[in-house]
Amino acid sequence: MALFKRIGIDLGTANSLVWEVGRGLILQEPTVVAVSLESNRVLAVGREAKQMLGRTPDYIIAKRPMRDGVIADYEITEAMLRYFLRQSGTSPFFKPEVLVCVPTGVTQVEQRAVLDATLAAGARRAYLIDEPLAAAIGAQIPIAEPAGNMIVDIGGGTCEIAVISLGGVVNHRSLRVGGNKLDEAISNYLRRKYNLIIGEQTAENLKIKIGQAIPPKKEGKMEIRGRDAITGLPRRQEVTASEIATALEPPLRQILGAIKHVIEDTPPELVSDIIDKGIILSGGTSLLKGLDQYLSGQLGVACRVVDEPLLSVIKGTAAVLENLDEYHKALRS
Ligand code: ADP
Ligand code: MG
Repeated sequence: MALFKRIGIDLGTANSLVWEVGRGLILQEPTVVAVSLESNRVLAVGREAKQMLGRTPDYIIAKRPMRDGVIADYEITEAMLRYFLRQSGTSPFFKPEVLVCVPTGVTQVEQRAVLDATLAAGARRAYLIDEPLAAAIGAQIPIAEPAGNMIVDIGGGTCEIAVISLGGVVNHRSLRVGGNKLDEAISNYLRRKYNLIIGEQTAENLKIKIGQAIPPKKEGKMEIRGRDAITGLPRRQEVTASEIATALEPPLRQILGAIKHVIEDTPPELVSDIIDKGIILSGGTSLLKGLDQYLSGQLGVACRVVDEPLLSVIKGTAAVLENLDEYHKALRS
């Protein structure tokens, strides 16, 4: 039996998940922190803080500490990690070993910042693992084999594209385009077409309810509320699925382009494996309707969304924690 508690953390730009070996998933909440400017105190974390986004009085700010997959605000990130570790019963006498998942694109300095924040938050030891490796392990891809596997994880802030073989990342590209950029594309489109200003959460709702990556066969629609950019007054507007599909085209083309680039500079033997096995999609944005079809059609390679795409990274992190020795090579500390 392990001597110390072992905790895995998927610190995502949109959602954070925490796993404790022996207990399972203990937390899944939005990566948002609300801070009081007056006392510089953390007022709320997670769901409670997310509801405050865009609705706070002057002296409270609600922040997303991870922007584009990296730490945008060190102190806030540390506060968030501290909150997570407290949920798992961490105290100065019970310090856990912690494995944190980070995007492959982060610099050495950023890696150090995540490790330091984790230690400062109360960990006994801190390790990092590359997100695509964790996602692949979580998707039960046999990563140790000498065969190429391509995994594309599209979250809130980033799209991580990686080719994995022999337990390591052979080739990767990280793009700062994810679900947030899709939401922004929807907002911009509605502002241009209807002079209508909508909030982040309305844009995300439109994407999840009627958004599609390919032109819809059956026309769905949704009524939303926003503010008229000219009169400044509130207004209702009906929006169709075709309009959302049009709005989503440019950011989806960026993701497609990045995947093509990675394929272009992957050695031919590995490309041949990828064609055989198909491309694995994970992350919340892989839930966008028709995304697998869109990418399969454009790339000529079958793309498949993993089961429970919001959980693949944390499931992989958990598997690594349970077999730390076996995966030792994949970790950094
Ligand atoms: P991160 O790892 O960056 O925290 P996640 O993997 O948790 O991100 O994914 C969050 C993103 O997934 C958000 O942008 C959210 O809007 C998007 N998302 C969640 N469900 C859906 C859905 N059904 N359709 C499209 N996008 C979705
Ligand atoms: Mg993620």
